[in-house]
Parts: sequence; structure tokens; C-alpha cells
Amino acid sequence: MQAEIIAIGSELTTGAKLDTNSQWLSRQLLAIGIPVRYHVTMADDLEAMIAAFRTSVDRSELVLITGGIGPTLDDLTRQAVAGLAGVELVLHEPSLEYIKSLFVRRQRDMPARNAIQAMFPRGSEPISNPRGSAPGIWMQVQNTADDASCQVIVMPGVPSEMKRMFQQEVLPRLSGSGRVIRHARINCFGLGESAAEEMLGELTARDRDPEVGITVHEATITLRISAHGSSEAECQRKIVDTGQIIREKLSGFVFGVEDEELEHIVVRLLCNRGLTLATAESGTGGLLAHRLTDVAGFEQCFLGGVVVPTDSAKRKLLDVDGELLKRAGAISAEAASAMADGCRKQFGTDFALAVTECPWFDPDDFTGETPTVYAALAGDDFDESHSHALVGDPAIAKSRAAKMALNLLRLRLLETD
Ligand code: AMP
Ligand code: MG
Repeated sequence: MQAEIIAIGSELTTGAKLDTNSQWLSRQLLAIGIPVRYHVTMADDLEAMIAAFRTSVDRSELVLITGGIGPTLDDLTRQAVAGLAGVELVLHEPSLEYIKSLFVRRQRDMPARNAIQAMFPRGSEPISNPRGSAPGIWMQVQNTADDASCQVIVMPGVPSEMKRMFQQEVLPRLSGSGRVIRHARINCFGLGESAAEEMLGELTARDRDPEVGITVHEATITLRISAHGSSEAECQRKIVDTGQIIREKLSGFVFGVEDEELEHIVVRLLCNRGLTLATAESGTGGLLAHRLTDVAGFEQCFLGGVVVPTDSAKRKLLDVDGELLKRAGAISAEAASAMADGCRKQFGTDFALAVTECPWFDPDDFTGETPTVYAALAGDDFDESHSHALVGDPAIAKSRAAKMALNLLRLRLLETD
């Protein structure tokens, strides 16, 4: 079965909104083994819609359409489906009753325009939508080329309504190909994309089963495993085997799976061992603390953090030696270590992480010294620091510096396991 997805809405083609429905639907279809060949995004234009729907119906067996079934004058998808099939719109009484009841429940008068949402192309079937006022439309339309029939399914544009309708009403009625596809993600930090690829060798070859793809987001490398099989269990087996090979090859660089970030791992390791942490930040402006406080249960291990962008704040809040700052500079490994030591003492924690200023840089200017940011970790009987030369995208410098600090602690905690 070949499928395609059409996203309707002038807010999408003008760039005011991003079409996220098509991405979500494609993933859902792929998971039941239905490949999607086309994404079409188009404005609310009746003639253009009829023409585009015709093209889609003639080349695919399943066409999923989202958007344009609201009550307003610019919503024309139902008229376009009627135009495509060459039929008129007819009133569906139960849908009208349902829409009226919604307004009674909301204690508001029903605007006359809402009645249009109870009008359906003759021969189509309404799809119920308990989350909103617009039912969806399910219609079989003939393919003009070979007289085969195509299923046309129209769902609301609002993502939450669309998702519910797809999962509850549409998915159970779609017969997949019998093939199952499952995905898994493994997250790594501390190496570049090409280094990861080199270490993985044949694993990232295009024709491998399962396939392993590499993406990078703010210095986090994600390996996405896609396994095909005839059952869920077969896919899971393949995913576990490939995951194991990845862990063997990348070992310490691998920190988590799926949506896990470095801060989740650090908070978990600290909480499990009853250890505590404080932070002192300059260039990251509190991002390190922000990330830590995004993790459920962070209060158990994260006892506090300060933002110290000036020498005077470093001296007053962390008791950093002013002479050291003058001698080594605020952006130095020595300053980072002194900040971490001072922070640990002030908060009375087992560990403290510190990040120096992130110097601003022009990524196109290769003259002069390479701007560098330093992070340091202080513990009971040690302190260590790590530096990172800032090259590439300045927009991610803060995020990278915060991650570098978290990774220092993660590796330390793993070593002392
Ligand atoms: P509509 O059903 O066309 O009235 O769409 C209602 C709202 O849903 C729009 O204003 C958008 O905010 C949102 N929406 C519509 N289509 C999409 C889409 N393809 N992806 C994400 N959001 C959408
Ligand atoms: Mg719209």
C-alpha cells in the first residue's frame, strides 16, 4: 500500500506555522509498515485542493488529509473532497445534534457557521471527534487511471484532535502490511559526528539491518536504530543486539537512551548514592542549574547554584582569590577549579561544578586565539577541569558548555562506581 499525506492551511505555506502533523502521521504509518511516498503542504485554496487531491488519489491507495475542516470561511477541505468526488455536501443529522450539544455544554449559542461541520460529501462517512467540534471525513474515491479505489481520510488540523482521531478511529481500521518497524535511540556525548561514524564502522552502512543513523543536536550525538521485522519481538531482538554492539564500540561516550539527557543520568547517579551537588556558573548564566532542575526529584541531590559573571561576584559568593583571577584570567582552568572549590565549600556539598565565561566569537573569523570555555568539578579530595575550544555554531556554545560540565561529573561517578 502506498500512502501520502496532505497538510492544508495557508498558515503552513506562509511559514507562520510548521506542519508537524505530516511528520507525526508518517511515523505512525511507518510503524505499521505503510510507507509514505509524498508529503503535500498547501494553502486553503479550493481549486488547487481539488487538483492536488486528484493527483494524490490517482497515485496512492491511502491519502490522509489534515486541516481545513473548521467552521470558518477559509476552511474549504470538505468542499474540496466533495468537488474531487463530484458529489454534493449533505447534512448528517447526528453530527449536527452532536455539535449543538457541545455548545449547550459550553453554555454558548451555536454560531450558524458551525452547521457546516455537519455537512459531508455524499457517500462519505463521518469520523467522530470527542475532542473538538469537527468530525473527520472518510471517503472511498475512484482512481481515474485504473478504477481502483483510494481511501481518503480527512482529520482536523489541531494536532491533539488529529492524533486522537488517528489513534482511536483511523488506525484500528487500517490494515498494515504485516511488517513491523521499530525505532530506538542511543545518546552519546563527548565526540563528534564523524568520529562516531568512524568508530561505528560498518554499523552505519545504508543497507544494514537494523539501520543505524546518526544525528547531532547541540553536541549530543544520537544513534537511531531502525529495525524491520515480522513481529514486535523480532524488532526488539535486533535492536538489543545492535545496541550492544554500539555500546561496545563507543563505551563511555554513551550516556542514555530515548529522551534521556545528561542531567537525568547525573541526578539519577547522585540520588542513588545519596550524594549532593552545587553549581557555579558564569557564561552559561544558570543553564546548568536550569537543566538540573528539569529532572524530577532533583531536590534530593541538587542543593543550589549561583551565577557569577564578574570577578567581584566570584570573590564575594565563592571566595575565589582575586589574585588568581588576575594572574590566570577569569577564563582559565585555574579559575574554573577555584570556582568549583569555593562553591563546594559554600554549599557544603559532595561535589560542585563550575563553568567560566563563554567568550563570544565570530565563527567566520579564524584569526586570533581560539575562544575557549572551561568547566571544573570539585570533590572531597580532588578537582579536575576540562576545556572546550569554541568553534562551530555560537548559538549552542552555552548548551555545549553546560553539557561538558555535566559530563565531567557523569564520568567521575561512573569511574567511582
Ligand atoms: P484547521 O483545522 O485548518 O482550522 O487548523 C486549526 C489549527 O491547527 C491551525 O491554526 C494550526 O494552528 C493547527 N494546524 C493545522 N494544520 C497543522 C499541521 N499540519 N501541523 C501542525 N499544526 C497544524
Ligand atoms: Mg485552517
